Amino acid sequence: MEKKQFKAESKRLLEMMINSIYTQREIFLRELISNASDAIDKLYYKALTDDKLVFNKEDYYVKVTADKANRILTITDTGIGMTPEELENNLGVIAKSGSLAFKQENEAKDGHNIIGQFGVGFYSAFMVADDVTVRSRAYGSDEAFQWKSTGADGYTIEPCDKQSVGTEITLKIKENTEDDNYDEFLEEYRLKSIIKKYSDFIRYPIKMDITSHRPKEGSENEFEDFVEEQTVNSMVPIWRRNKNELTNEDYEKFYAEKRYGFDKPLKHIHISADGAVVYNAILFIPENTPFDYYTKEYEKGLELYSNGVLIMNKCADLLPDYFSFVKGMVDSEDLSLNISRELLQHDRQLTLIAKNIKNKIKGQLQSLLKDEREKYETFYKAFGRQLKYGVYSDYGANKELLQDLLLFHSSKEKKLVTLDEYVSRMPEDQKYIYYAAGESIERIEKLPQAELVADKGYEILYFTDDIDEFAIKMIMSYKDKEFKSVSSGDLGIEPDEAEKAADAEESGNKELFDFMNETLSGKVTKVRASKRLKSHPVCLSTEGELTIEMEKILKAMPN
Ligand code: ADP
Ligand code: MG
Repeated sequence: MEKKQFKAESKRLLEMMINSIYTQREIFLRELISNASDAIDKLYYKALTDDKLVFNKEDYYVKVTADKANRILTITDTGIGMTPEELENNLGVIAKSGSLAFKQENEAKDGHNIIGQFGVGFYSAFMVADDVTVRSRAYGSDEAFQWKSTGADGYTIEPCDKQSVGTEITLKIKENTEDDNYDEFLEEYRLKSIIKKYSDFIRYPIKMDITSHRPKEGSENEFEDFVEEQTVNSMVPIWRRNKNELTNEDYEKFYAEKRYGFDKPLKHIHISADGAVVYNAILFIPENTPFDYYTKEYEKGLELYSNGVLIMNKCADLLPDYFSFVKGMVDSEDLSLNISRELLQHDRQLTLIAKNIKNKIKGQLQSLLKDEREKYETFYKAFGRQLKYGVYSDYGANKELLQDLLLFHSSKEKKLVTLDEYVSRMPEDQKYIYYAAGESIERIEKLPQAELVADKGYEILYFTDDIDEFAIKMIMSYKDKEFKSVSSGDLGIEPDEAEKAADAEESGNKELFDFMNETLSGKVTKVRASKRLKSHPVCLSTEGELTIEMEKILKAMPN
């Protein structure tokens, strides 16, 4: 039987693509600049095998020019250009990517900087323009051709005049309507910031004519405009540079430029991974807690680049919640993007990168704790609570990963200590890791319940955060030592003479204890002669899992 080919209603298809692939129209500039960069790359690859072609880096650039009065935006490149056949095939056939074909043909020759692959990006120009003209002269040809379209109506191709090899794309920016204003795409500063945002690390210069103000010559208070051609993008991303060449200041500058925070980063992590998944990353541990950090408004995530082109502003999947304070970016060549290049297709590579990053952060925090204790404590004061939430959440799934990063105030050391430090100091007869919960260090120090333990010479960890006790309940035991609240019924301390005396006291005054038990019935479970009080007359203690502090917190929680 004859097999028929699908036909497509190309008008509708184009319309759908233009209007439903992208969430933000500003990305049209990212797409056109990416194409220009690909076109230059192709010449570069050609030069590798073609002796006639000498590739002088200075001759290759992209230029963006806005003519506000005529509402015209032009993107010019000195790349490989297109023959009339290529204009027809690449711009006339939806989802046909000349760049993908090029990449496949040149696979052996390190063609991985080429960005294009889907064959749709170009049409995003119609989101902001109602008239697009492409004038192009292919490398090796002395004729130029012009492709012209108003979108769904189709296109024309005819010869035109163009002196140099390359492509010039002219967009007639749409008129404003009641709902939509397109003026921003003709504003110098706005175009510049879109370029910075998405295309800062395109490897060829992206130039613009920037207008500035300067004092008029020979005059003090008269100014004049002057136009100067500037390269807008940084080109070489800091993360592709050699770590050894970079200083702390370079990273701090990057942190500030990226507006990751207004503070200075406490520590940076520069990763160049080329194992199972190839990626570069620069991560920062901030010094201060962002004002909205412990609120619902805070959005975690890292910037995600595919080959130097920004894909996502905040990719949440790259960071576990307990490390949500980390700022920074990841760049990878290995991501499978979806067609809009705003999202990822499937996330195997991403999962690998995320896992890798998680371990690096953990490692960095551990070495900070080991080698730069003061810095670690600064970090811990800002984000320690998040680590404790991390231990508690997901039913303790991450406790192994996080428990060694926790710090608590110690009764003995009068400063923050790790669980490991606590356990390594424990006297042989001490069975438990003792802790006391309360609102503040000062209040805990006055707790009558703590006296017996302290008198025994045992160290007590002070829990002043709501989450502390919950997190510890998740950990349960550390290096085979269980945690014990100083206010729990059985402290696991051998009864000494005083305690035996307390037992005797209880049986000797049975009537008094019966009276107290009766009077307080319903308010407390039991009144007992205490084995732990030294200088206080009375104290409350608990039996079972929940301590008084935990009960208080649970009661205060909204249901
Ligand atoms: P993609 O970039 O994903 O391939 P596009 O729709 O952006 O898809 O572009 C389609 C094709 O048009 C490209 O693959 C390339 O072959 C060609 N093309 C687009 N812009 C240019 C340009 N400035 N110079 C040379 N060729 C271009
Ligand atoms: Mg493209």
